[in-house]
Amino acid sequence: MAVTYADFRAIDIADFDAVVVGSGFAGAVTARQLAEQGGLRVLVIEKRAHIAGNAYDEYDQAGILVHRYGPHIFHTNSQEAYDYLARFTEWSGYQHKVLADWFGTYMPVPFNKNSMEIAFGAEKAARLIEKLIATFGDERKVTINELRAQEDPELAEVADFVYENVFLYYTQKQWGLTPEEVDPSVTARVPVFISRDDRYFQDTYQGMPVDGYTRLFEAMLGHDLITVCLGTEAESVFELVFASGDEDAPLTAIRIKGEAFEGPIVYTGPLDELFLARFGRLPYRSLDFVYETFEEDYHLPAGTVNYTVTEDYTRVTEFKWLTGQKGSKTTIMKEYSRAYEDPATQIPYYAIINGDNADLYGRYRRLTDALPNFYPLGRLAEYRYFNMDKVVVDALAAADRILWSLDHPDAA
Ligand code: FAD
Ligand code: UDP
Repeated sequence: MAVTYADFRAIDIADFDAVVVGSGFAGAVTARQLAEQGGLRVLVIEKRAHIAGNAYDEYDQAGILVHRYGPHIFHTNSQEAYDYLARFTEWSGYQHKVLADWFGTYMPVPFNKNSMEIAFGAEKAARLIEKLIATFGDERKVTINELRAQEDPELAEVADFVYENVFLYYTQKQWGLTPEEVDPSVTARVPVFISRDDRYFQDTYQGMPVDGYTRLFEAMLGHDLITVCLGTEAESVFELVFASGDEDAPLTAIRIKGEAFEGPIVYTGPLDELFLARFGRLPYRSLDFVYETFEEDYHLPAGTVNYTVTEDYTRVTEFKWLTGQKGSKTTIMKEYSRAYEDPATQIPYYAIINGDNADLYGRYRRLTDALPNFYPLGRLAEYRYFNMDKVVVDALAAADRILWSLDHPDAA
């Protein structure tokens, strides 16, 4: 069925058993589960003018299906996540490939045996590959930090090359930090791969929703117990009640339209935003996207080209590779990473993971600990660098937990 939309001003909050803030994967999966498994009447409030969060896609003026908030490729080792979403979409078998533009020469990323031949020439690469295999094993993934810790001079040469030509400039552009300054888990997402496999991900399940992500979300939120209010910001419609006037006093209730809402409230936006940044803003990186359309079948040699040594943008994506769309025009998108400074005009895309920021997040999170019906969930509300599959798995678990606690009111 189609999604039921309503104007927040017109709804009666007494008609709902649960409230979900945000309609990205965290919000949409939870809303669906609460409605379908628990028979709850779910109100989804979403501040944007559309559903699907950062996975939102739509056709541009040239008729090309484009992603509006960065290129999204679904990949997972979780059969649960893949099968769950398969209820709402058919999957294509797309396998993502990324090339680094290395001063005009393309080489595969993650840096692998094929990249090594391009960088060092076949003969020297053969020797280096042998040494890498002897040290780490064949078909193994090694993080740039592990590689840089090697003392052998030839391995150090590979490490220096990859560091200088794949990681350094790209990471500086993306984070405003060097690879040493970002959390090790960030660069570990793209290891050196001792393999001829040129794919960006090796997960068991990979693909794209054949009709796009927005259609997938329409199918997920199209349920007779779910109502979606677009253009509705949580902080404008929630009245927060605290134990005292102290700025660290815990949240004891959330009132909506004058009533304390006692059903589950799943919150998938940034936590600092909910509390009007009272302790200061949680740091994020934002992005600007610049699109170009060409009268060509294809413009790039792969789905994404990373600019690891030149240009101000980090990467360029050509959507037709991802979606499999055919036709004589094509649209590409360049990504420019920026500091996140203005919530009114920018979107917080990447949490900046470090100890100080985790502490600041913890201070916000503690405000919510005493409110038993409040569930922070997803990449923003948990201030983490989650892929879509992880968010889906977590949302399924959260919905189970919520439904269990409704069935066992005395357990808490
Ligand atoms: P979101 O998708 O951000 O959804 C949150 C929703 O809540 C949004 O719709 C937002 O408008 C709404 N909201 C926020 N605050 C409020 C508020 N106060 N009131 C009301 N509504 C609110 N993952 C992959 O697996 N593969 C990829 O290829 C991939 N590529 C990515 C590329 C980029 C550039 C980025 C930034 C992320 C990428 N991801 C990818 C990660 C993916 O986007 C996230 O895992 C996923 O979107 C998380 O879902 P979510 O529901 O937690 O958050
Ligand atoms: N990275 C890099 N060069 C590359 C690809 C990735 O330096 O060619 C680093 C960079 O710090 C980036 C991180 O690895 O932020 C993770 O890359 P990924 O492609 O997973 O980023 P995402 O798609 O999440 O933006």
